[in-house]
Amino acid sequence: MFNLILFGPPGSGKGTQSVNITETYKLQHISTGDLLRDEVSRQTPLGVEAQKYMDQGLLVPDEVVIGMISSRIDETPSARGFIFDGFPRTKAQAEALDKLLEFKNTQIHLVLSLEVPENDLIQRLVGRGITSGRSDDNEEVITKRIKEYHAKTAPVADHYQSYGKLTQIKGDNSIEDTFKLLSKEIDKYLQPA
Ligand code: AMP
Repeated sequence: MFNLILFGPPGSGKGTQSVNITETYKLQHISTGDLLRDEVSRQTPLGVEAQKYMDQGLLVPDEVVIGMISSRIDETPSARGFIFDGFPRTKAQAEALDKLLEFKNTQIHLVLSLEVPENDLIQRLVGRGITSGRSDDNEEVITKRIKEYHAKTAPVADHYQSYGKLTQIKGDNSIEDTFKLLSKEIDKYLQPA
């Protein structure tokens, strides 16, 4: 099993690159943002609770997200591996994920961190807001999401850095060029399927 975290601030390209990686390496893609948006659209109790945070650009409480991830991992026991996109987003989530994987006799093998200048992030997210229909892709909420990233999510990089698992990837080139850089790192662990 090979487990990868695609890390980076909002708008750094995690979603786009996760799709490319999933297709090439046949990993199971787990995006907590997508899972939460699905709960919101179905107006489940979890979705109604999560929406309050998401609409304000705040992180959804750890216990909600961790429970969701745990059941998702259990759904595909024979996966070749997982690609985590938008998770973990706090140190508590990272520690919970490490424990969850240890319990399954596996681990996070690699964390690829997409590095994109902040001005580019805001431009990309505002642009996406025009086409995506996502209620959190407007300038006011984007600013809050980036603030949450610096306060709560950036420490996750230090956590994996301390285990020697973090590799930084230049993320402001074309989608194709960034994918080549990501693949070069993944190929050290896993061949395309
Ligand atoms: P994303 O699609 O990854 O940008 O996530 C959209 C929103 O969903 C975030 O701004 C948070 O409100 C929420 N969210 C997604 N993933 C997480 C997570 N791992 N922990 C807490 N909140 C999350």
